[in-house]
Amino acid sequence: MSAVCVYCSSSDTIDAAHIALATEVGTRLAAVGLDVVSGGGRVSMMGAVARAARAGGSHTVGVIPKHLMSREVADDDADELIVVDTMRERKRIMESRADAFLALPGGLGTLEELFEMWTSRTLGMHDKPVVVLDPDGFFDPLWEWLDDLARRGFVRTEALASLVRATSVDQVLSALSMNAS
Ligand code: AMP
Repeated sequence: MSAVCVYCSSSDTIDAAHIALATEVGTRLAAVGLDVVSGGGRVSMMGAVARAARAGGSHTVGVIPKHLMSREVADDDADELIVVDTMRERKRIMESRADAFLALPGGLGTLEELFEMWTSRTLGMHDKPVVVLDPDGFFDPLWEWLDDLARRGFVRTEALASLVRATSVDQVLSALSMNAS
């Protein structure tokens, strides 16, 4: 385990507690020697994770499509900022550079990235851990819906179980087989 791809909010209208969570995640990943792969934005939680990870000594890799660069939100301080033409290429590189995937609270972009890596894991396309960190019940409505889909036979219970739901960074680190420090 050497690099974790973190998916999280790029919104600048969210509350400070979630920015603090992102900072904690970046700090703790760096403390156990993990590098961070992200969507290459410097705003919101995304920026907070990357900045905190770098401050702690992580190598940060941002993968950003050209058309998002033009919005001037690129994480120019990333140790590697990889600029790609398409979202597909971006996700392919993010996947290949990471040994695990960690989703924090986010919006459509985060959900899309999480579901892609979770689904592809359930289909046997990779066996990297897919973890959600949710200390405050942000994802509860989603879990309720998915549990109902499983009860009704639309989702396999093994598929649900293949996602790690963590409520603390310590749980995230143990899911990644890292000793907390
Ligand atoms: P959202 O959850 O909709 O705020 O989208 C955030 C997720 O989508 C991140 O994990 C990124 O990989 C990607 N993303 C969305 N918008 C941006 C942006 N402006 N810069 C970089 N990545 C972004």
